[in-house]
Amino acid sequence: TRIPVVAGNWKMNFDHLEATYFVQKLAWTLRDAHFGFRHCEVTLMPPFTSIRSVQVLIEADRLKLTYGAQAVSVTNQGAFTGDVSADMLAKLGCTYVLVGHSERRKYHPEDDANIVDQVRAVLAAGMKPILCVGESFEERRQGIELEFAVGQVQDVIRDLSDKEAEQMLIAYEPVWAIGTGMVATPQSAQQAAAAIRSHLTDVYGASVAERVRILYGGSVNSSNATQLMMEGKDIDGFLVGGASLDAEEFATIARLT
Ligand code: 13P
Repeated sequence: TRIPVVAGNWKMNFDHLEATYFVQKLAWTLRDAHFGFRHCEVTLMPPFTSIRSVQVLIEADRLKLTYGAQAVSVTNQGAFTGDVSADMLAKLGCTYVLVGHSERRKYHPEDDANIVDQVRAVLAAGMKPILCVGESFEERRQGIELEFAVGQVQDVIRDLSDKEAEQMLIAYEPVWAIGTGMVATPQSAQQAAAAIRSHLTDVYGASVAERVRILYGGSVNSSNATQLMMEGKDIDGFLVGGASLDAEEFATIARLT
């Protein structure tokens, strides 16, 4: 039994003041009996500069929320101007770090080797990587979307130990569905999640594969979350972008997950 996760990827939104306001509003909304969620973990992924504010608020009010970062350096300290290390994030209480988000792959020189190193850095610091994979429109047009997404997983996890693999979360986020309002059909999201899990079973065996949480991401909102969960037995929650910036909408997605 895997505990579902609803992760809000804020991307480059919410400075630390806005983050504080948002977390207060979210906590208030989730406390309301109507929004009571028991079955899933709700996690927030703020920009670096807002993490500390989120941490302070969550600890002070003992909120049942976790949080993480959107990226991480592959090195642990030293002369790497502008980078943030995994140990720094772990010390801030981060549970998760997004790795290989398509926007990072596109706007930063993040290739597979670099993504593998990020995964290693996150695991070594005691946090859990959320590895993002997913095809673009072109691969889907060619009908090779499953091979493509599974291949991205394969390239990153191949050298992990069983113990390390168990700590991974994988987010299937088709690039064409991100920020477009074009959500994958529940069938195709499930198909991709199942293909990824089946690959994990081949490499690590069923007991590891059954523990890895696989999320769907790409235009998730409160109107499509229920169907994606209901028809996705391999889907263990969501990575939410745009809809995670509205506290009520995000709380509703958590309630439906
Ligand atoms: P949207 O939910 O805005 O489509 O973004 C998805 C995403 O990229 C989450 O990481």
